[in-house]
Amino acid sequence: MNKRLILTLCMIGLGAALALTAVPGPARTTEKPKTALFVWGGWEGHEPKQCVDIFAPILEAEGFKVEISHSLDSYLDLDKLKKLDLIVHIFTMAEIKPEQERNLEEAVKSGVGLAGWHGGLADAHRSNVEYEFMVGGQWVAHPGGVIDYNVDITKPDDPIVKGLKRRFPMKSEQYYMQVDPLDEVLATTTFSGQYAPWIKGVVMPVVWKKHYGQGRVFYTSLGHVAADFNVPEAREIVKRGLLWAARVIQ
Ligand SMILES: [Zn+2]
Repeated sequence: MNKRLILTLCMIGLGAALALTAVPGPARTTEKPKTALFVWGGWEGHEPKQCVDIFAPILEAEGFKVEISHSLDSYLDLDKLKKLDLIVHIFTMAEIKPEQERNLEEAVKSGVGLAGWHGGLADAHRSNVEYEFMVGGQWVAHPGGVIDYNVDITKPDDPIVKGLKRRFPMKSEQYYMQVDPLDEVLATTTFSGQYAPWIKGVVMPVVWKKHYGQGRVFYTSLGHVAADFNVPEAREIVKRGLLWAARVIQ
């Protein structure tokens, strides 16, 4: 191999290396990394840990510094909470102590994002109305249990659902909820009435976003069990919802 060829090969190699390093990765090296706290627990039937184990790595791949907690005592340090970008709260049918609840609400009110799915967020603390005021809805029934139903995207231009199939099927619990008119609804489901004839034709929110004070709140009723997130649309909606609540996407 002559010297010129070696030099040329070296330059090609250097160029390729530079091109590789120039590819913008998800981690924003010049900015402070976003921070997210997952707090999971409550009813095990909702597989809270398995679900968190799906989305925590997704946020890490987006450059987030992620902390995972199995205790509501993580809410006792309000100053720490207020420095977070996002809290993911997954705690079906559990008691929350007044100080824990108050700090969670104060943090979100101050601008920290809040996100969650299914009963983990919207059937977490049934007797805590301020908490429900923050979330924007509360589960009340899933007629028929695990059934086949469709989800319809109703705001296709919203970044959280943009480009997804306008209608996709789920085999899961179809959540009937009491919802806040403030919710900006991005997807709905329509009840057939097969399991509760008087609700035939009712159109129910499945995905919404809203504010509580300065904080962004994202919710979807999808995600009864971790396998529900094998549906690509369900997984993508939660991923983007978390990013929206953390102000990564507008
Ligand atoms: Zn469920």
